[in-house]
Amino acid sequence: MARIAVIGAGLGAMAAAARLAVAGHRVAVYERTDTYGGALRRLEREGFAFDTGPGLLPLPAVYRDLFVKTGKEPLEACVELVQVDPSSHHVFADGTRVPLPNASRAGVVSALDAALGPAAAQRWGDFLVRARETWDRTRRPLLEEPLWPDWQVLAGREPYPAVPHRKLLRTRAAGTLAEVAAWELRDPRLASLLEGYALEQGLDPRSTPASAAVLPYMEHAFGTWYVRGGMRELARAVYERCLARRVEFRFGAEVTGVLEKDGRVAGVEFTEGASPGGGSGNGAVAEADHVIAGVTPGVLDRLTRGARVRGEGEVVGRFGTASRLTVLLALRGGRPEGTPHRTVVHTRDQEAELESLFGSPAGLPAHPTVTVLRPDDPALVPDADHEAVTLTSAVPAGTAGPGLDAHAHTMIGAAERAVPGLRDRLLYSEVRTPDDIAEATGAEGGAVPVPALAAAGGRLLHPSNSTGVPGLWTVGGWSHPGGGLPHAGMSGALVAGLIVEGPGFRGSQ
Ligand SMILES: Cc1cc2nc3c(=O)[nH]c(=O)nc-3n(C[C@H](O)[C@H](O)[C@H](O)COP(=O)(O)OP(=O)(O)OC[C@H]3O[C@@H](n4cnc5c(N)ncnc54)[C@H](O)[C@@H]3O)c2cc1C
Repeated sequence: MARIAVIGAGLGAMAAAARLAVAGHRVAVYERTDTYGGALRRLEREGFAFDTGPGLLPLPAVYRDLFVKTGKEPLEACVELVQVDPSSHHVFADGTRVPLPNASRAGVVSALDAALGPAAAQRWGDFLVRARETWDRTRRPLLEEPLWPDWQVLAGREPYPAVPHRKLLRTRAAGTLAEVAAWELRDPRLASLLEGYALEQGLDPRSTPASAAVLPYMEHAFGTWYVRGGMRELARAVYERCLARRVEFRFGAEVTGVLEKDGRVAGVEFTEGASPGGGSGNGAVAEADHVIAGVTPGVLDRLTRGARVRGEGEVVGRFGTASRLTVLLALRGGRPEGTPHRTVVHTRDQEAELESLFGSPAGLPAHPTVTVLRPDDPALVPDADHEAVTLTSAVPAGTAGPGLDAHAHTMIGAAERAVPGLRDRLLYSEVRTPDDIAEATGAEGGAVPVPALAAAGGRLLHPSNSTGVPGLWTVGGWSHPGGGLPHAGMSGALVAGLIVEGPGFRGSQ
């Protein structure tokens, strides 16, 4: 039995903790804030409740597997999973509206046929076939296996089978998502639809590799889910599973250093009773045979005081430059029957939005793409005569100041295209900024990690879960296989596998 210290109570870290406890190890989690779940926070006010972090769960299979492997009660016995159908409703710049059904590629194509015509629908259908090929080529190394030691294999070859495109006298193949949109989809609404998947992750479609085609593929093939009672219920269930497996939690315990002895990890230094990120508290040391860090590479560098934690030549991509602005709206009047759970209101000026978000200097776009979430969930409202609505937009990490309030108003204006009469129904609004995300997760500037993607010279790969310091591992959205709830859950499975089975571990079956 090894002593294992886990830094942070984010979803990836808790997934690793539960699995390792089941394998017979003594696991203690040190969390700087006073609660579990990291980004999965909840705000309650005047009988309303809102998720302030993730609003939807892709690939619930990852958490089903966690619950099967760590106890008798399956995930569905601990939380109520609801399929979101339609998985998203889209409102495009020209006013075209299209609801895309959940987990049905054929259904998506026929919805596009009805809204955009057969030629556009056919092009999306053909694109999904190529996206599927990309998924088949990258699924295991990108999601289910530890980062290959020869990670360059993933960094170099573009796995998306682009259609050769003839321009002037040259034949080229799309290398970015924006090129796939322009050359293969050739419809501004389909382009918005595709590029929206990158933007939703905080990625610039103009530089995101075509391999990101897996993002819409995953949604169309496997669907989108919601957890009844709010997404934080998922964090509660994972936390309770950890407790049931005798994982120890220390809240208000900020890890301030990773200790090394004889070239191997030896434990953590932590401060209890301090305010996160500063303030004095009581310093203490916990010895451990393994330390699992669910923090950003920047925080890990500080904790290891410059020790070389990454493998030879390993890249640390430039991911995570975007954060989110979230606007929580308490509305008078009940949620109308048949309201879509998620509506994406696309920007009126795509190029200007991307230039603002990803240009230099980065700023807030005048016409943002806004995701509107309207869950059908009585647990979120005081009664049936009220509705809780959440708006989210990508904003540059580190954005702060009064401009964010003005931007929240712009987002509310855009959301009126999805929620008619929104302003008249408004009881109150609350704004959650990148600073709030930084507070919840410890990520600099409130940056939100993106899922790992192949190609682009490894720019969108994350550091591997093993490090240059024996016994020190990384988990969660900032390490392989990257950000997002399923990816973080997978990182927990990978770290547990590497510790239990050793370096020969080749991934989940
Ligand atoms: C606004 C928002 C919307 C999102 N929407 C979605 C979505 O719809 N679907 C989806 O799949 N994903 C979404 N994500 C991403 C998803 O929430 C994360 O990728 C996922 O929760 C992974 O979290 P993690 O394991 O990396 O831990 P995190 O949530 O990053 O938590 C890290 C934890 O470590 C703690 N910590 C940090 N430093 C220390 C230290 N020194 N000592 C002790 N503790 C420390 C922090 O306090 C925190 O609790 C969203 C994220 C945000 C912020």
